[in-house]
Amino acid sequence: MKFVLLLALLLPLHAQEPAPVTPSAEPAPPAVPDDGVRVSVLGYHDFSETATETEMVIRTSKFRKQMEAIKNAGLPVIPMADFQAWKRGEKEIADKSIVITIDDGWKAVYTDAYPILKEFGYPFTIFLYKNYVDGGGKALTTEMIKEMQKHGATVGSHSVSHSYPGPQRRKGAEAYDKFLRSEFGASKLFLEEKFGGSVTTYAYPGGIHTPEMDAISEALGYEHLFTVLPGKIRRSNDDHTLPRYIILGTRDRVFDLATGFNEVAGAPSTHSPEIAPQSTPYPVRPEPGVPIDSRLPRISADLSTVPDLDPKTLTMKVGGFGEVPAVYDEQTKSYTWQVNRRLRAPVCQVAVSWLDSKGKPPEVPLRWSFRIDAEAAYLPVE
Ligand SMILES: [Zn+2]
Repeated sequence: MKFVLLLALLLPLHAQEPAPVTPSAEPAPPAVPDDGVRVSVLGYHDFSETATETEMVIRTSKFRKQMEAIKNAGLPVIPMADFQAWKRGEKEIADKSIVITIDDGWKAVYTDAYPILKEFGYPFTIFLYKNYVDGGGKALTTEMIKEMQKHGATVGSHSVSHSYPGPQRRKGAEAYDKFLRSEFGASKLFLEEKFGGSVTTYAYPGGIHTPEMDAISEALGYEHLFTVLPGKIRRSNDDHTLPRYIILGTRDRVFDLATGFNEVAGAPSTHSPEIAPQSTPYPVRPEPGVPIDSRLPRISADLSTVPDLDPKTLTMKVGGFGEVPAVYDEQTKSYTWQVNRRLRAPVCQVAVSWLDSKGKPPEVPLRWSFRIDAEAAYLPVE
């Protein structure tokens, strides 16, 4: 299995048509060529030693073990500023580097993660959203953030309200534009006034990026913007959709993938997209990133561990098909669709979405892609 996965990683893929080039007033800056360096950006959320582990809440002791593992592997943890300078082509960094980010601004960043990060001497970036700073209860306070800034923390934006773009986008172009200007702009102003410096990094809430965001974030002075799609960053990666490994409290595999740099050892540096090792927050079939030998697979997601799922809101979208009539099984809590027309593209992308009973979408969207082994797919079934 490992060998097959390795092959999938080495093969250049052209899953998506290149985006149409839209004419713009200014010519795009030349892409900085790859230098063979790969950076793994880790994304954490909340920490606790005693609360039930969930995807978004990691055991503090497990976090410590992970920081130790990074040290033992000899991987340097670099400050966001070094990452940014490298990405612009202004600085050299180690071939395999780690960047640590923490989203939302939970108080446990200060009480649980920060002492460990300080002990290891690891720099880190907190992606804060305006409305939650000094939000009371479990939120970080300005004082805590300022103290952490003195010991390795830098601040990036995670929007104003942490809203997902879907509903705003459906209101039309004008409303969406206004919404985006506020989410990107007001959060940047707020953070710069409160914490000083220039805020040029952004973590999309839920990792959701839409094309309308690019011109706005750029005009406002953002340089590096992060999704939640796992993968290593090369210098040639698009700065608007940088991959990031969301480290889940309940699935250690993501951390292993994020800090494992051997999967493309010896592979030449390439501009071709590759299927990065993927992780999904819930078990899915066909498995993410893995080649299958059928063009008519059953696609399914095991949602039995989703807390508070409202089955009526489930949708599945499959590349080349759009929204498909997938069926939710109340007994097994799996959501399944049998592909009914042979898949043609070498890579098939799937997105499953839902809301909880309060109408909220999941923090990490369930999206993955699998690869169709073109030759095997034509072989007769044994
Ligand atoms: Zn968030």
